[in-house]
Amino acid sequence: MTDRDNSIDAEVMDIMKRYPRLFRTGSSTKSRGPMHDGFLCDPGWYPLLDRLFGDIDAICREDDLTGIKVSQVKQKLGGLRVYVQGGNDRVNDRIRQAEAEAAATCEGCGGSSPGIRSIGGYVTNVCDPCLNKRKKELLDR
Ligand SMILES: [Zn+2]
Repeated sequence: MTDRDNSIDAEVMDIMKRYPRLFRTGSSTKSRGPMHDGFLCDPGWYPLLDRLFGDIDAICREDDLTGIKVSQVKQKLGGLRVYVQGGNDRVNDRIRQAEAEAAATCEGCGGSSPGIRSIGGYVTNVCDPCLNKRKKELLDR
């Protein structure tokens, strides 16, 4: 589990800075709005999010979308959720594609995942080695 109370993960910050059109990365925390927490998911999904936002950025240029903003990126019930304001059908279709991709991708390591499952009421989408690691972490608590 990552500590989500403090600063944004450096890798996430890099991705957000690559697409200022989508994230409004300013110097103050406030200017990032709800994205001040970064991505509320584990690193296994960062590469597919990077590709997603790269494609959305390209769609914005092609379709001349200026008021677009990513409002939230999170893991909910083992699935990826990406919320965007001011997008269009192409953007929404690309997001659905990334969410489907995440459903088959381990949130822990980015390898292939057998799908969403539950460990002791904790719903997650990880491969077997990551699941074993998490079980150990849960037991060590
Ligand atoms: Zn894994």
